[in-house]
Amino acid sequence: MTINNSWTQVDPLMQAQGELVLRKLVDAGYPSYFVGGCVRDELMSRPVHDMDIASSATPEQVIALFDHVIPTGLQHGTVTVLMENIFHFEVTTFRTESTYGDHRRPSSVQFVSDITEDLQRRDFTMNAIARDVNGELTDPFGGAKDIESKTLRCVGLASERFDEDALRMLRAVRFASVFSFRPVKSLWAGLLAEKAKLKYIAIERVRAELTRVVLGPDPLYGLALIKRSGLYHYFKAPMSWSGYINEDLLNMLPIVPTDCALIRWSLLLQGLGYSSSQSLDLMKSWTFSNEEAEGTSKLILFDELWHEKLAKNQDLEAQRRSWIKLELELGKQSSEDWLKREKLLQSTGRYEQLLAWHEEIKIYAPHELCITGKDVLETTQKQGGPWLGQFLKKVTYLVAVGDLSNEKEMLLDAANKEVIQNGI
Ligand code: ATP
Ligand code: MG
Repeated sequence: MTINNSWTQVDPLMQAQGELVLRKLVDAGYPSYFVGGCVRDELMSRPVHDMDIASSATPEQVIALFDHVIPTGLQHGTVTVLMENIFHFEVTTFRTESTYGDHRRPSSVQFVSDITEDLQRRDFTMNAIARDVNGELTDPFGGAKDIESKTLRCVGLASERFDEDALRMLRAVRFASVFSFRPVKSLWAGLLAEKAKLKYIAIERVRAELTRVVLGPDPLYGLALIKRSGLYHYFKAPMSWSGYINEDLLNMLPIVPTDCALIRWSLLLQGLGYSSSQSLDLMKSWTFSNEEAEGTSKLILFDELWHEKLAKNQDLEAQRRSWIKLELELGKQSSEDWLKREKLLQSTGRYEQLLAWHEEIKIYAPHELCITGKDVLETTQKQGGPWLGQFLKKVTYLVAVGDLSNEKEMLLDAANKEVIQNGI
């Protein structure tokens, strides 16, 4: 099958360099093809970010042919060819894989001479299409047709492919969710039969796929597949999906822009009934960075403290003070993230009011005061101690709510009064 010889989804400079690499390999007598994601994405009219190459050349032969080569994964037959110092092309020797002893990686790979054999080891039909330098496709499993009908199908028997490498089950969910593909019955049946083997997969790799679902264009579809299949039970750090589920929160996921990661995670976990501290624990065990785990759990904490306690039974001024205190406790970044979330969710119906209070806050932390601890000790002639930190924190709050202005004389005066009042 031939498609139009020009790529429409590839940066023309990258295409030119990729074709140079491919031609050089072919001219040296090694059949070579573009493969995998780039061929798939071009057929789907989605932007192509990198172009992978499969070749009959062995890594040593590739290394001998090009000036700038990085030996990325020699044992798997992969080297990276660097062109013009900016374009990277992974060139992988045609190979088959065998004896997946641990449900996650082949214990050995064998180099082969035929592209079709190489395509056979790939996971889904849409990922098992090769394209030569003239645009001719090698598509032994009907990947192009499946792409057209938005069908997700394993190459070969689904249960065998999932047994070999259990991560493929989560890749299936991710591809279905991100591309809006429908898994064929046999894939789904294979997944249900093999799902428990997901427990062999490192949590980092599970997180990476889950992240692409949650931050993708249709998170609810991917999450529905994860729920329906029960895959979440078999994450190395399992996710709980029982008890009270807040569907309203989960249903908000798609309206949150895809670059607001923490907001999406907070909706998912809160929707599933996770408290802020439970979310922190789960995200840490999923190997998220501290910044991501803490940022997400603080968004949930905002809700726990504001909605459930502070916003109730107080007059407006007391609420304003509570709000500002909360912002100081949780920090400016989290406050702004929460306000962004609130603007989208409108869960309080008071977004404008909260934003106005937020914008009035002049400082968030003692280091923004125009006095230092040293100034305080000098003016009061006292010894340092825990009182000093407490005092600076209190003054920060008073400046933030507008009771004091951030002027040196006024704050030193406050320091002297504090010492007298509290007998320090
Ligand atoms: P994207 O980069 O958008 O996630 P991709 O298809 O390029 O999509 P990669 O993980 O970069 O995905 O893998 C490149 C190719 O390698 C895939 O298209 C597929 O052919 C093959 N592949 C990747 N992971 C597996 C796997 N676990 N089992 C079988 N084949 C795989
Ligand atoms: Mg890729």
